[in-house]
Amino acid sequence: MKKTVILLCLCLVTLTARAQVLRPDAFPPQDETLDAKSLTMANTLEEMYQRNRYPTYDVYVEMMNHFAETYPALCHLDTIGTSVEGRLILSLVMTGTEENDLSRPEFFYTSTMHGDEITGFYFMLRLCDTLLSSYGTSAEITNLLNRVVVYINPLSNPDGTYRGGNHTVANSVRYNANWIDLNRNYPNPFGEEPLDSIQPENLAMMDYAARHHFVMSANLHGGSEVMNYPWDSFTSYERPHPQAEWWKAVSKRYVDTCRRYNSRIFTNVNAQGFIAGGDWYVIYNGRQDYFNYYHHTYELTMEVSTSKKLPTEQLQRYWNIQSHSLINYIKEVFNAPADQPEGIAPHVEADCRVYPNPTRGWVTVETPQGSRNINLSNRPAGVYIIPVEGHPVKITKL
Ligand SMILES: [Zn+2]
Repeated sequence: MKKTVILLCLCLVTLTARAQVLRPDAFPPQDETLDAKSLTMANTLEEMYQRNRYPTYDVYVEMMNHFAETYPALCHLDTIGTSVEGRLILSLVMTGTEENDLSRPEFFYTSTMHGDEITGFYFMLRLCDTLLSSYGTSAEITNLLNRVVVYINPLSNPDGTYRGGNHTVANSVRYNANWIDLNRNYPNPFGEEPLDSIQPENLAMMDYAARHHFVMSANLHGGSEVMNYPWDSFTSYERPHPQAEWWKAVSKRYVDTCRRYNSRIFTNVNAQGFIAGGDWYVIYNGRQDYFNYYHHTYELTMEVSTSKKLPTEQLQRYWNIQSHSLINYIKEVFNAPADQPEGIAPHVEADCRVYPNPTRGWVTVETPQGSRNINLSNRPAGVYIIPVEGHPVKITKL
């Protein structure tokens, strides 16, 4: 009897230990058998505004254009690029109309690089609508948009989301059309390059990041509920992020605000609801480390729902819990540490400066001995270590 109890305890301890290290995001979806009936689609814009549906691809594109047409003074629509199958990767760019001398920081939200993690896709469309429709009536939103430029890309892997056709998200998958995990496909600042060539969706995103200066961003995923801050490539013991304390405070504010609406949210990984990525599960070639390291963007990964394909009946409830936090997170851009955090900056070694970096063609490298121009236009995309005046210089070719 006692033996059985001890064995049972051991099993429970083992299961608990496994549960703590399991990172659902790192594995294929486990909820593919979900009843497709609970993924109700909006086939028209009017249906989309009923708030409890996912958009068809056409309704999604229509909605993004609708924002731009309805609020031309407040926003315009950018195309970041196109997917393998030619679907659009869109970004809505929003800022207030008040004239002032403020230089407005750029903030970026992007979601659903794993095509089946669709809660964030819905959140981002709601957020666009909320920001635009509240401008001029809500002092909070008006003031926010007058001080920041907000970029929102609701869907960064449209081929994955619409794997089953443009009319449904029920057959959405994690991967892009080349069956590659886009979150293992970015240049790795700390080690090996990705096994597969960098995918069109990611090349477009790298290019977009290079053409802007995003001070802060968040990348929305699903399959868990936790704020995952950098680094992903290391445990915090091996290499803590230089702004780890700031990240913890930002994450805690997000989670605390959500818990005012639901005390059990963000509890499936740990009690506090946030974690250094590598302490949860180390991954390489992820987007988060790429953005933090190469673009000096303070980006974290938001895992916003334990269900990857959140049933449509739950969408409004999840939005109510997290909408305030999503808006408040944008305001953190004003608290972002201004100085280049130690350990993030060096695109290059020694006292060299490279610009632009990443590049498509010519770069200028300044070394203590003078400046030199280098042409990378004939090289394939990738990360190169090129000796310049004796200094090993790291340059990313898009
Ligand atoms: Zn994911």
